[in-house]
Amino acid sequence: MKKLILFLCLFVTAVFAGESVPKNIIFFIGDGMGLPQVTAGKVAKGSLEMERCPVTGFATTWSASSLVTDSAAAATALSTGVKTGNGMLGVSPDDHPLQNVIEAAEKRGKSTGVAVVCSLTHATPAGFIVHVPSRKMDPEIAQQIAASDVDVLFGGGLDYFDLPELQKKMTVALTAEEFRSLGTPKKAAAILYPVHPPYAAERSVSLKELTQKAIEILAQDKDGFFLMVEGSQIDWAGHKNDGPNVVSEVVDFDDAVGAGLDFAEKNGKTLVIITADHETGGFALLDGSVENKAVDKTGFVHGGHTAAMAPVFAFGPGSSVFSGIHDNTDIGKTMIRFIQTSEK
Ligand SMILES: [Zn+2]
Repeated sequence: MKKLILFLCLFVTAVFAGESVPKNIIFFIGDGMGLPQVTAGKVAKGSLEMERCPVTGFATTWSASSLVTDSAAAATALSTGVKTGNGMLGVSPDDHPLQNVIEAAEKRGKSTGVAVVCSLTHATPAGFIVHVPSRKMDPEIAQQIAASDVDVLFGGGLDYFDLPELQKKMTVALTAEEFRSLGTPKKAAAILYPVHPPYAAERSVSLKELTQKAIEILAQDKDGFFLMVEGSQIDWAGHKNDGPNVVSEVVDFDDAVGAGLDFAEKNGKTLVIITADHETGGFALLDGSVENKAVDKTGFVHGGHTAAMAPVFAFGPGSSVFSGIHDNTDIGKTMIRFIQTSEK
């Protein structure tokens, strides 16, 4: 009997230990996606893919320099677990480079990637790869991205990259057709626009397709992977006080979340986290219809960001720690801790 109890204890401990640290992390960021934006997406879709997450929480978003963060400081907080000043990427307020989750994953032998619908040099993806004092340094940011060991780079920004240099180290797709015939090389870039892609309705490749292909490539690594996916333009529609495009960008982002959750459900060792870097616009949902899935009237406080807490959704091993209220740096710290202690 004692032996049986001991065995059961060990078994439960092993299962719990195995479940608590993920092997893979897929991290989704809806740029500018506050709770009202999520609500608008739910009205438009009926039910959101994000709702498949059993764990929900909130994250405070302020930066080291301001109550209202920008995307650079927020990306740095989420990727490194350290707060910095607005405009700064991957460095401390006094400009020292900070280790980010992608670098931690590479050290652990894992594959890494980013898939976004903006220029790869823009604040959020850059905040997961580079170390520069200003987000405005696009050519320098592109150089650091090209020199990095990131295995999957999907987005825009071709104008900033030295294409022949990039082609030396990875397969590069420049059109939707080339993207769809990429296959599964170990390292791949799809740089589909000179700078930024258009809004969702006009994009030749959806964020969901980018996410599915990125996972397909990265999941080949037996040591696991880290992938960051950004719904970049929820924020931009917010800056323009453009309600309909806020809604369609949230819908497009949520479709991509579904692809991540589909993989995580089958894989069993993958943590999916969905959050925002900040809210944009002071967005409000003012009229519409649940039955007709219609968002008819929206409003905005202004054309900038706000300091509202960001929603957090999590699914898979390790997800339970994201329940409750945390600081955005806790998300970065936790992801790095998981990566450093995860199964290879
Ligand atoms: Zn913004």
